[in-house]
Amino acid sequence: MFAEFDLVMPSGLDEALDILAEAGGDGGLDVLPLAGGTNLVVDLRARRVSADKLVGLGRIAALRGIERSNGRVAIGAGTTLSDILRDPGMAEAAPSLVESARVFAGQMVRNTATVAGNVCCGSPAADTVPPLLSLDAELTLTGRDGSRVVPLADFFLGYQKDQRRPDELVTKIAWDAPKPNSANLFYKLARRKGDAITVVGIAVTVAAEAGKCTTARIALGAVAPVVKRAREAEAMLEGEALTPELIEVAARQAVEESSPIDDVRASADYRRHSVHALTRRLLTQAWDPATVGG
Ligand SMILES: Cc1cc2nc3c(=O)[nH]c(=O)nc-3n(C[C@H](O)[C@H](O)[C@H](O)COP(=O)(O)OP(=O)(O)OC[C@H]3O[C@@H](n4cnc5c(N)ncnc54)[C@H](O)[C@@H]3O)c2cc1C
Repeated sequence: MFAEFDLVMPSGLDEALDILAEAGGDGGLDVLPLAGGTNLVVDLRARRVSADKLVGLGRIAALRGIERSNGRVAIGAGTTLSDILRDPGMAEAAPSLVESARVFAGQMVRNTATVAGNVCCGSPAADTVPPLLSLDAELTLTGRDGSRVVPLADFFLGYQKDQRRPDELVTKIAWDAPKPNSANLFYKLARRKGDAITVVGIAVTVAAEAGKCTTARIALGAVAPVVKRAREAEAMLEGEALTPELIEVAARQAVEESSPIDDVRASADYRRHSVHALTRRLLTQAWDPATVGG
């Protein structure tokens, strides 16, 4: 039998936040936000998650829309993977995010699954998270008492644990569009091309000036309890020209910063090998003179 819960569909953000504020505490209700439902409904059916009440976000106009201004890009929490693919400016504003949307699930899931829901499900294999980390994205968390901005790099506290309070919603995700002389890439390794859970997902950003790397970001997906940045590998690259030797050393360092497990999709050894090979490949592509002038 399907789990029982109440579903409310508020049309305003304040109303949604009021309902969420009923959550938690002694005798409080378990109230969960429902976006596309492509994670949550599956978890409810499998009884991995239970809730007294779901707050559907689909009718809240304030959570919709993609904005660009002064080089800053902001997507509302209602933005779906299909919205990312349909937006004509997104290929320039977030190339790695567009690539993750392209290889995400199948068309039906992309039409309802939101980027914010992907972040909030807390999966180490969530495909939009490495791209967003590589873009230094920030989340706006909103509760009845106001909003706070949290860098995505600080959001995850451990496996399926994050900084969001039960009475808060992620309302916006924002980042600076890549600068000229930079490249932002993502690669999803999975057991088949479509509708597959990621074995390893890597996103990189490389920016250059006068032949030196000014910014390096390497984000590792599905190889640790949370999606994470390989910060020591990044530090090896900044301020340097990215020679093949240096890229090789940084790719090996990225492996050191991963902690993959064996599971049904791949062995830990295969994942370590893939982190090395993909990090080296993406950094080499990103340093191409045509993209960053390296
Ligand atoms: C067939 C299939 C294929 C899939 N393929 C992929 C894939 O290729 N890559 C991948 O990464 N994932 C995949 N998924 C998983 C899922 O589609 C994604 O994680 C999706 O982005 C979840 O978004 P949603 O809008 O459906 O979230 P929901 O399922 O509605 O919610 C997910 C979680 O986030 C919380 N939440 C949602 N929105 C907010 C918000 N604004 N603020 C606070 N909390 C919020 C919910 O309470 C819930 O805990 C797949 C799922 C299915 C069923």
